[in-house]
Amino acid sequence: MKIICIGRNYANHIKELANERPTEPVVFLKPDSAILPKKMPFFIPAFSNEIHYEVEILVKINRVGKHIAEKFAAKYYDEIGLGIDFTDRELQSKLKEKGLPWEKAKAFDGSAVIGHFYPKENFDLNNLSFQLIHNAKIVQDGNTKNMLWKIDELIAYVSQFFTLKKGDIIFTGTPAGVGKVMKDDFLIGKIEKEEAFQIKIK
Ligand code: MG
Repeated sequence: MKIICIGRNYANHIKELANERPTEPVVFLKPDSAILPKKMPFFIPAFSNEIHYEVEILVKINRVGKHIAEKFAAKYYDEIGLGIDFTDRELQSKLKEKGLPWEKAKAFDGSAVIGHFYPKENFDLNNLSFQLIHNAKIVQDGNTKNMLWKIDELIAYVSQFFTLKKGDIIFTGTPAGVGKVMKDDFLIGKIEKEEAFQIKIK
């Protein structure tokens, strides 16, 4: 399986990192080795001084497809989840400055937290709230209504470049409020009232 990630999909997050607003979705990949095994803590990698959390709505692809039209995109997923796109912000900034690929900062082992999935019918996907709670404080409070590109648009866009396969996961971008994790921190992710994951930082 592969993990397809969208960057800069919420205007308030683009602002906080002083990024340019893109005219097309920003896309990058994580390998399956990036998935943090269930119930494992996240270990801050030895190479890093600045790991940021980015909470994101996830979409699990349920069948093979390419060049998917937006109007048919909803047939390609039944489940929605929540996860974290852990990012080495310092390293990412260095790589961005030089125009180099981001993978070392975004796709390292453990960088993809994948929480519980829920049937998409449980939610209004165009008005779905989600939160990240960092040591008992709400630090990210997002809603899919603020996405620049909606889930179906993202599926149509990325499937022009990559054949989607059953089990692939799309990370749909993070809202504002990203921040640094430290050893012994505790993170909880919520979709509406549902607790989708808990992560200890080591
Ligand atoms: Mg992200």
